[in-house]
Amino acid sequence: MATLGVVWFRRDLRLLDNPALADATRRHERVVAVHVLDPRLLAAAGPHRRRFHLASLAELDRALRAQGGRLVQRHGDPAVELPALVQELGAAEVALNADPSPYAVARDAAVAGALPVPVRRWHGTLVHRPGAVLTGKGTLSRVFTPFHRAWARTPLDPWPDPGAGVLDPADGVASAPLPSADAAPPIPAGEAAALDRLAAWLERVDRYADDRDAPAVDGTSSLSADLRFGLLSPRHVLAVVGEHTPGRAAFCRQLAWRDWYAHLTAELPHVARSAIRPEYDAIAWRHDPTGLAAWQEGRTGYPIVDAGMRQLAATGWMHNRVRMIVGSFLVKDLMIDWRAGERWFRHLLVDADIPQNAGNWQWVAGTGTDAAPYFRVFNPVAQSRTHDPAGDYIRHWVPELAGLSAKAIHAPWEAGPLELAAAGVILGDTYPHPIVDHAAARDRTLAAYKAALAGT
Ligand code: FAD
Repeated sequence: MATLGVVWFRRDLRLLDNPALADATRRHERVVAVHVLDPRLLAAAGPHRRRFHLASLAELDRALRAQGGRLVQRHGDPAVELPALVQELGAAEVALNADPSPYAVARDAAVAGALPVPVRRWHGTLVHRPGAVLTGKGTLSRVFTPFHRAWARTPLDPWPDPGAGVLDPADGVASAPLPSADAAPPIPAGEAAALDRLAAWLERVDRYADDRDAPAVDGTSSLSADLRFGLLSPRHVLAVVGEHTPGRAAFCRQLAWRDWYAHLTAELPHVARSAIRPEYDAIAWRHDPTGLAAWQEGRTGYPIVDAGMRQLAATGWMHNRVRMIVGSFLVKDLMIDWRAGERWFRHLLVDADIPQNAGNWQWVAGTGTDAAPYFRVFNPVAQSRTHDPAGDYIRHWVPELAGLSAKAIHAPWEAGPLELAAAGVILGDTYPHPIVDHAAARDRTLAAYKAALAGT
């Protein structure tokens, strides 16, 4: 009898280089593509990620239909919906690509327990599966550079080529309509758009090593949302980019960071909730709702910080250098708990992902991962002068300062009254005074970190 396999799509919304899908087409004559829209996850997504997600699902359905199948959609708890659907279809197996986020790990365990058929797990959202990249001691490195060395020499697990099985539209079974999105996604969604972005990136990648830290320049790939939703396979990206120029090698190294945070989260699932090194959870963070709101709304009086926070709110994306600057400002200047920043980013970023977001926030806060010591504090003005020297990024996102010179725009409070007047800037009126003095804030934070560490 012809067997039928189910592929449960989650964060791998693509057809190309998808090991779970390829595996199912090798093992079964007919393959049904399924997605369960989990209301808890949808409710947690801010507007940008929600729109991108829904539009990517619609594109996946279109691509499956072009090949004779469709995306069977259910809404609700996957541990209830999936077993019911598998029974209805008479499926023999479920194939999926694993997701190391703590919520997904618990959900997948519940689904596997409730399913009447076996689950075949692949790791198509990462280059290497968690547990595959180990140091000489057989452990996962807590420092990135040794991890990267091991990552580069770890052989790739084989992924199957597609087999002869065909996509089945499962015409007889009900499929829930996707909720309608209230607006277009911030960037075109779906696998085809992601492949276009990758092709465009190949024209620019050789400049990556020079341009990647300049937020005014289109110097990075903007592929993070594509990787987040699995519209692209990270292995496919690696293979087409290659490492034969400094720009390409630097870019591939970033994909190793992505694997590293996923592997750390698989091993330390508390990463979004508590410091990787527990002694840092003793820091007496400030309760400062006014400061937090100023940061969230881009009105701290530090132009580079405000530019980044406004870019995030408007587009659901922020340049990596600026993510580090605004993150450091929240934690080290305002002394607000990094978890508040992680939550805000998680809500608004299109690419938000627990391992990447929490891992990077802990890096910024210096609370556990990597060799960067906590006492290395970013100076937001110096960072701004170095990475946005002409002030063009600030001019774009903080237009009320656009008339200031390249010298004055990074720290308007240092500009003379004539220059401010000529640019139409009235501090405290058209643009805020700095909400904190950086030098004093730095001392305050270092004292708080020291006190916390001394108490343990
Ligand atoms: P590129 O520079 O072109 O890099 C290529 C890819 O490598 C990215 O798409 C991403 O998948 C990966 N990558 C790059 N930098 C990092 C990094 N530092 N850590 C892990 N992977 C990386 N990235 C996310 O994907 N999701 C998040 O939720 C997220 N939160 C962050 C929070 C903070 C506080 C900071 C400092 C960084 C965060 N990053 C996050 C990492 C990084 O900022 C983004 O991946 C990057 O800006 C995306 O733009 P890009 O695709 O043009 O990157």
